[in-house]
Amino acid sequence: MFAILKARPEQGLSDAEVENPAAPGAGEVEIAVSMAGVCGTDFHIWKWDEWSSRRVKPPQVVGHEFVGRVTRTGEGVRHLEPGQRVSCECHVTCGHCRLCRTGRAHLCRETSIIGVDRAGAFAERVVVPARNVWPVHDQIPDRHAAVFDPCGNAMHSATIVPLAGRDVLITGAGTIGLFSIGIARSHGARRVMVTEPSEYRARLARELGADLVADPRKPDTRERILATTDGQGPEIVLEMSGNAQALRGALEIASNGAHVVLLGLPASDVTLDLAETVIMKGATLHGVTGRRMFETWYDVSAFMLRNPDVMDKILTHRLAARDYATGFDLIAAGNCGKVLLDFAKEAA
Ligand code: NAD
Ligand code: ZN
Repeated sequence: MFAILKARPEQGLSDAEVENPAAPGAGEVEIAVSMAGVCGTDFHIWKWDEWSSRRVKPPQVVGHEFVGRVTRTGEGVRHLEPGQRVSCECHVTCGHCRLCRTGRAHLCRETSIIGVDRAGAFAERVVVPARNVWPVHDQIPDRHAAVFDPCGNAMHSATIVPLAGRDVLITGAGTIGLFSIGIARSHGARRVMVTEPSEYRARLARELGADLVADPRKPDTRERILATTDGQGPEIVLEMSGNAQALRGALEIASNGAHVVLLGLPASDVTLDLAETVIMKGATLHGVTGRRMFETWYDVSAFMLRNPDVMDKILTHRLAARDYATGFDLIAAGNCGKVLLDFAKEAA
């Protein structure tokens, strides 16, 4: 089958004809991938940065945001059948530890990630545990269902504290930040403010209805955020850039008692003025990883059904899977929202 993989420990990805997966084992299903999203994580692996070069063991088929149809089911799989349209949670957890058994499987220490630690979805077929599979509602089109995963990161972040009636600052309008704008609006935030240096993504943020979109490098950004929040500063920050300066700036401007949700992954250690911007402010920092299984998935499904127009604004590019290199170039330049790859055509 056609697959996109990290073949060697160096920058870039390649495509190849690889063996079809072996028949799904007990509790597993095989899925024929129709469409997949390119994630920031895939881009890290493409770049072969410090994190990915430590974690990924080539040869490794990458990709983890996808939709497809069940082709084969292993022994003991009762709730899924061939032909069913599904997406999939990419965090494969142990199912036995205290965290898994108390509704916090997204924090399981034994997590292995599809397309990072085990065979990925940038391929015609992928085998995954049945308990990771998410049946897709009939009215959610493939192009939306392919991005349940990153939309779920946004949903998880946006549901840590209630946003209704609050002033919310989102730092970073990459795809997850962009989804968060739509979610914050649909959850009734009072004002949704966004900082983003890329002009392309700032335009998307405006189109999604953010009340203020500002360039973090401009000197008047701070004043504009204060003016939008009656001088108080945002009560909730969703940090979605991984940029240390974005985090410091957000903490500095946040209101006393703010909740600061950290999703963006900084590339290295970050220094903060803890005394002035966290402790004396009585601010709460929340680390967020993955998606709540499977509460987040129900929330995202509801969001997608109610907001197809928001979804379509964020899905800016759709390419044949073989043109994946073009997708990575777009991401490197920052001139895109979500890039989708069509795999159905490969199998046809
Ligand atoms: P992305 O790279 O597409 O988006 C980051 C955005 O931040 C970019 O648009 C960039 O221009 C912007 N940015 C850079 N510097 C900024 C600054 N100073 N102020 C404001 N914005 C700035 O990434 P994404 O796919 O949207 O993911 C967002 C972040 O979340 C990344 O850091 C990613 O690694 C991380 N992530 C975390 C999890 C998790 O489970 N915690 C899951 C997925 C992604
Ligand atoms: Zn576990």
